[in-house]
Amino acid sequence: MEKYIEKLENIFKQAKQEIEEIKNLKELEEWKIKYLGRKSYLANFSEILKNLDLEERKKVGEFYNQTKEKLEKIYHQQKEKLSEEEIEFDFYHPGNQVYYPTLTLISSNLKKIIEIFQNMGFIIIDAPLIVSEYENFDSLNMPKFHPAREMWDTIWLKEPRNYLLRTHTSAFQVPFLKKYKPPIRGIVPGKVFRFEATDSRHDFEFYQIEGISVSENSNFSHLRYIFEEFFDNYFEKKITLRFRPSYFPFTEPSIEVDISCVLCNQRGCSVCKFSGWLEVAGAGMIHPFVLKEAGIDSKKFQGYAFGTGLERLIMLKYQINDIRLLHSSDLRTNEISS
Ligand SMILES: [Zn+2]
Repeated sequence: MEKYIEKLENIFKQAKQEIEEIKNLKELEEWKIKYLGRKSYLANFSEILKNLDLEERKKVGEFYNQTKEKLEKIYHQQKEKLSEEEIEFDFYHPGNQVYYPTLTLISSNLKKIIEIFQNMGFIIIDAPLIVSEYENFDSLNMPKFHPAREMWDTIWLKEPRNYLLRTHTSAFQVPFLKKYKPPIRGIVPGKVFRFEATDSRHDFEFYQIEGISVSENSNFSHLRYIFEEFFDNYFEKKITLRFRPSYFPFTEPSIEVDISCVLCNQRGCSVCKFSGWLEVAGAGMIHPFVLKEAGIDSKKFQGYAFGTGLERLIMLKYQINDIRLLHSSDLRTNEISS
């Protein structure tokens, strides 16, 4: 009889010593299995009791019950203590999501584009959003009743009359050339406005990047080099260019600029409509009319100009299929850039 009581005493002593050193709930569960689990000494104690006579069974049985209760008690005490501690240090516990301020995709990409052009010697000009009818149209060889004016004849101000929200960054070409005499290279990035129904590809406001270079020998070869440098750096891969003849009233000759599809590498995909090419910019040699309006001798100086849409480039780079996401306040859109 004594040996069973002694054994139970030793078990409790050992269990108590061990539980005090336990640092986490996982270890505590292992301890529980060891001392209170199905295969523990205590769980199979009934076998021992069975073989004792009644008097002994009573005494040993009582001691067994006390020991078991004491073990359960210290188990629950330790569990409570560890649970409180572990909440404080539970790295897996889901917390409140924290949004750190970051630049929007528009801002971060504009910043990158500006850097690329600055590295090629372009100055950056912040031009007004409200421009005169003359700046937006007449100075660019689009007199009243010119058919090209129709699609841009949009958001006019009541006061002052003959002013509108610029429909293209080209509106700053003549003021730019008047202010900075050639030879000059510059970029005019910024918002433009159109009276347009919105869908996944169109919005009533968006960003354009206008480029102008005027000197004694600015030509298409220079333009091609500038575009190659720009697109390679922007998309961070080798891009192939294609120039196609086009028409703009303020450039002569005019071209559309295509780049090799950045999504399929010209193998053909739905974005490039299986052509392998993406239309990304319009450009051309600045029309002598525009140079004349800026007071520049078109016999001495010549230049190229180009325009590209910022959102279109971002959508291609990050594979975003709806322009409205870029102008919304959905923070998830910006997570792509970080
Ligand atoms: Zn493609």
